[in-house]
Amino acid sequence: MDRKVAAQLTTSLKKTHHLLSSSMSGWLYAGFVDGHFNCGTWALPSAETEPVAPALGIDETPLDLIAEIEAISDPQTQLDRLSQLSQTPYRTLVEDSFRDRSQLRATYEAEAERKVLRVLILGAGPIGLALASALKVANAEAVSVVVVETRCLQPGIKAPYTRHWVTNIPKASVRELVEPRLNAIFENVGNEIYIGVPIDLLETLLLASCKDLGVLFYCDPNPNLSAFQGVDLVFDATGGRLQSLDFPDDVKVPKIPGNTHALPESYGVGYDQFAVNAKAMTPKINIKVIEAQGQKLPLLNNQPLCIPMMKLSEIPMIAFDKLMAYTRNNNYDNKFYLWSGKLKSEINEALLLINLTLAEYRVLIDKLPLRQPLATAHLPSIGLDERLLTVFEIMGKVPGVVIERPFSYRPYFRDRYDATLLGLPMIPIGDSIYNGHPKVGNGMGSHLGHVKHVLDKIKNVLPSP
Ligand SMILES: Cc1cc2nc3c(=O)[nH]c(=O)nc-3n(C[C@H](O)[C@H](O)[C@H](O)COP(=O)(O)OP(=O)(O)OC[C@H]3O[C@@H](n4cnc5c(N)ncnc54)[C@H](O)[C@@H]3O)c2cc1C
Repeated sequence: MDRKVAAQLTTSLKKTHHLLSSSMSGWLYAGFVDGHFNCGTWALPSAETEPVAPALGIDETPLDLIAEIEAISDPQTQLDRLSQLSQTPYRTLVEDSFRDRSQLRATYEAEAERKVLRVLILGAGPIGLALASALKVANAEAVSVVVVETRCLQPGIKAPYTRHWVTNIPKASVRELVEPRLNAIFENVGNEIYIGVPIDLLETLLLASCKDLGVLFYCDPNPNLSAFQGVDLVFDATGGRLQSLDFPDDVKVPKIPGNTHALPESYGVGYDQFAVNAKAMTPKINIKVIEAQGQKLPLLNNQPLCIPMMKLSEIPMIAFDKLMAYTRNNNYDNKFYLWSGKLKSEINEALLLINLTLAEYRVLIDKLPLRQPLATAHLPSIGLDERLLTVFEIMGKVPGVVIERPFSYRPYFRDRYDATLLGLPMIPIGDSIYNGHPKVGNGMGSHLGHVKHVLDKIKNVLPSP
């Protein structure tokens, strides 16, 4: 592509300011509903990234994952089989496109030659994959796409996806980004409006589909990116890991008034379905923003906004009513948020998000290095709220429930992004711009809307397919 056209496109794609209001909807929720649990510091001991499991051997059976899944009509069987296939390192699924590392450049050139647009995407998470898929669906002949991923079992072999968390993604927001076979699968397992598919399964489907569409994958903990010299556009879809974010330990509160927000009258209408207690909401909050190194970090009532949390996932719907009754009746401070996923009702599962005090977070973070079945988890009995212990006890008897590692909602918005690669400015996308609040649905759903926006801009400079 003409350098000038690519440079203009890059500049327009780096304008992300319109996403700020979407990011802010999470800050406001945290203030109005969960403010009681703001721990007031960004300096939390954080859980290390979940370690990659050692390779148990690669299954050499050829796998046409999409065809196999699409052929199953029963939604439960379809989802079970997809889970099973996604956890097994089948060579055809997890092996990258550059088997012979000495031929990296040559393999790439053979694919990229004669393409109008050459795109490099760092990060094979849901957003990097969705962008790769969308570009190929739009015009496979005109665009070459390479996706680089560092989370590997070994160089050349991608680690299977593990985040089995239900999602809040409207079907409409992915329709144009994926091939028809994927839309058919979403239609079969999702409810009327949402795709419902947990993140790990969505990633697996997108990975398999991208491979079928001709996207090249390069999986290496230490990738040699110079092999891709000559690309036109570079995207950072690493979830903010490429250029690390800076959350200061020592915060100087700016002497500006900030913005005072009064709880809107209609705020929280319908939140009762999540066990949220409207009476516990805060009527007035103040948000100030610290700007540092191109990022905006919100302060809630003059303190760093950071809410420690944990979650129970894969909760069978059979346990939902009992859990709803307990959490609704014991939620004077909005500790609990119970969300029924968006899969078809007969295969649906729920997620319980639990706000933690800083002390509870500290007690739990060391005990839970990995997500694990709640029934067999060794959990502390002191230092935790009685309600938490009761929920662990009730849900520990329900087969299948998983306890996830504690995490925190520590919002950021990247206002400016100056990283370059291969002499080109990088374009951030997904969580590399901002992190959503899991209770507001402004994460993946909104990021996919942004992918569509990026796609439309790119389509403007491509020939018609
Ligand atoms: C603790 C937590 C809980 C959440 N719970 C939910 C939930 O229950 N439901 C829900 O829908 N959403 C949830 N979210 C939000 C959701 O996970 C994100 O919106 C989504 O993962 C963002 O996608 P992404 O592709 O932008 O980034 P990521 O999913 O972070 O993907 C980034 C990818 O880049 C790779 N990578 C990292 N560094 C490099 C590098 N240098 N080069 C190449 N590749 C690299 C990573 O290995 C990863 O595969 C949660 C988020 C967090 C943090």
